Amino acid sequence: MRIVQKYGGTSLGDEGKIRLAARRMTGLARQGAQVVAVVSAQGQLTDELIEKAARVNRRGAAREMDAYLAAGEQMSAALMAMAIGALGYPAVSLTGWQAGIRTDSVHGNGRILEIDTTRILAELEKGRIVVVAGFQGVSPDNDITTLGRGGSDTTAVALAAWLHADRCQIFTDVDGVYDRDPRIYPDATRFGRISYERMLSLIGSGAQVLHDRSVEIARDHGIRLEVLSAFSGEPGTIVGE
Ligand code: ADP
Ligand code: ASP
Ligand code: MG
Repeated sequence: MRIVQKYGGTSLGDEGKIRLAARRMTGLARQGAQVVAVVSAQGQLTDELIEKAARVNRRGAAREMDAYLAAGEQMSAALMAMAIGALGYPAVSLTGWQAGIRTDSVHGNGRILEIDTTRILAELEKGRIVVVAGFQGVSPDNDITTLGRGGSDTTAVALAAWLHADRCQIFTDVDGVYDRDPRIYPDATRFGRISYERMLSLIGSGAQVLHDRSVEIARDHGIRLEVLSAFSGEPGTIVGE
């Protein structure tokens, strides 16, 4: 079985949470699964980097912003690979470029055009867990691009498509998709299942629980997404037909 798991920023907020995710991955790998993890920058790091850059230049070149912001995800990926290594399992971190993620040239909102999976497949073949830095790719000019805020979801779903993964799990800080933001509305109702179209319309009305392009890719490739809590161990919401 081949599985892609994505971990958002709050799910990686401290070392304990990183270790928890690493244990979940090694558990699956020890049962024989091929595991590809996609990680976001830790906690609120992307926001902090944006604020810091604005103090240096309020209108910094989009190309440099992408190079700067992509570093957050790269640090997460390397840290996660080290956490997996500490559990005695081989792992390798890859930047978007190393993972073969090719985008267009739109800095700050790049679109994935193609993924050359050669390197990832070679690493899986060696028996390693592969940890890919989310939210980034490389343009035709070999510049780093980012995929837009929340774009690590799209990295995960695109990888699931190009790698023909059997499962794609999106781990986050809530236990699924609700009809409204459960942090603002405590009486919100959770979906057991939701269609791609309903999910896209929720996103359209402001639910940033998933990146819109991730749902479009899932729909176009017939990928069933599982949106679930990184902490509870409970099944979450299935996004699919
Ligand atoms: P991650 O860092 O895991 O990518 P995000 O912050 O991007 O997490 O998305 C999860 C957040 O989305 C939740 O903490 C929740 O407050 C918010 N959210 C907004 N609308 C919804 C909704 N309809 N269902 C679930 N979560 C929602
Ligand atoms: N770190 C990026 C962001 O905050 C990407 C992501 O979290 O998906 O937007
Ligand atoms: Mg997100």
